[in-house]
Amino acid sequence: MDWYKLAKNREEELIGELRELLQIESVLEEEKATPDAPFGPGPLAALQFMLEKGREQNMTVKNIDNMAGHIEMGQGEELLGILCHVDVVPAGDSSTWTYPPFKGEIVDGKLYARGAIDDKGPTMAAWLAMKLVKDAGIQLNKRVRLIVGSDEESGFRCVDHYFEKEEMPTIGFAPDADFPLINAEKGIAHLVFSQKQAPEEENLFSFTAGKRINMVPETAIAVLNRASGNIGLKFQNFLSENNAEGTLNLEGDRYIITVKGKSAHAMEPEKGCNAAVLLAKFLTTELKVGAGAQFVQFVTDVFYGDHTGKALGFNYFDAMSGETTLNPGLVSFGEKGGVIEVSMRYSVTYPFEEKMTDIQQLMTTKPFVLDVAGDSKPHYVPEDDELVQTLLSVYQKHTKDFSKVLSTGGGTYARVMKKGVAFGMLYPGEPDVAHQADEYVVLENLIKAAAIYAEAIVKLASK
Ligand SMILES: [Zn+2]
Repeated sequence: MDWYKLAKNREEELIGELRELLQIESVLEEEKATPDAPFGPGPLAALQFMLEKGREQNMTVKNIDNMAGHIEMGQGEELLGILCHVDVVPAGDSSTWTYPPFKGEIVDGKLYARGAIDDKGPTMAAWLAMKLVKDAGIQLNKRVRLIVGSDEESGFRCVDHYFEKEEMPTIGFAPDADFPLINAEKGIAHLVFSQKQAPEEENLFSFTAGKRINMVPETAIAVLNRASGNIGLKFQNFLSENNAEGTLNLEGDRYIITVKGKSAHAMEPEKGCNAAVLLAKFLTTELKVGAGAQFVQFVTDVFYGDHTGKALGFNYFDAMSGETTLNPGLVSFGEKGGVIEVSMRYSVTYPFEEKMTDIQQLMTTKPFVLDVAGDSKPHYVPEDDELVQTLLSVYQKHTKDFSKVLSTGGGTYARVMKKGVAFGMLYPGEPDVAHQADEYVVLENLIKAAAIYAEAIVKLASK
């Protein structure tokens, strides 16, 4: 079967349906949410649109409380799940877009719209794949389910609810990340360090940095008592040594010091430059006594020049998922002392309980207490598993690309499945334009992906 040719023949249908879906502004709107539209009218309309497509094809369709749903075909005891989502992040400032974000303009073989690559394009490629397999009349020995979520971008409430009510697929893939495939996803823990000692007579009045725990803080601001000596010169020297920017202003008898670093995603803290850590490091030379001094010293000891948490024994590495990393994303000091919120991305084989026991022991000697405020376990399907090998061989056949399987410090949609991997549809070397202005999908890649998904369905769900 020439799946590519079959997909190419239906290019118009694919693009037509995709553009219709892209024109639905399926952004979460909590303030417009109702029991019938739990994520607002946009995500619901997009979900209903997909399910209607399934009905038109006489497939089995089920809507799970307007949060998620599925389109099913085939027969058999076992279930192959294909997990997609039709909600999108907001377009942001539309003046930064060259093309309207909710139209779907095609220029030079690229289709531009919010959701083009994340995840409406891949959803439609998978949907065409199902239709191709059905129309080819291939006998399936598993049921194949396109599971459609409508709240992926804001916390997976859609699929969490879905899997409370519906069966877990035996195997599955999520076309919501990268080719060739991602089989290892790190664990994601939310750590909170809180200072034991409250400030009394302080030279440090306040310290604030970071907007979200998932990002490397770009800016940090501290307010402190006018210090002795030439702090201005020391600050300039510090900035140039650390290749950073900043300002120092005197207001009354207080200094306001701002440091600018570089933002990055918490799953790759090494790609950014943490403004909070830099500012804390600078302040260790200015603050010598009190809770403020303790706070900047702790931040510096644990995070300066190291993303792996060696100072407290967090560090750990494994071959399938790499280094464990820490991102202090929210760092503050105020009346109650210092608070450092960290997004920790830990390796697949990380001995979490053991490590935490040792670290908690060590924390008794430190000026902070540590709480684990959240923990999403790692997700892993071994590389030699039949699911991984089958998907990989289909991908290689269609692309002649023999790139290695991938791991990620981020969480993909695949992690909600018991045995699932992320499979496309961003090809190696392609820029990741998800969540950005002028998000696009390359039409040719869409067709190629549909062919790959069709063959994958056949290989996984028929014998
Ligand atoms: Zn997505």
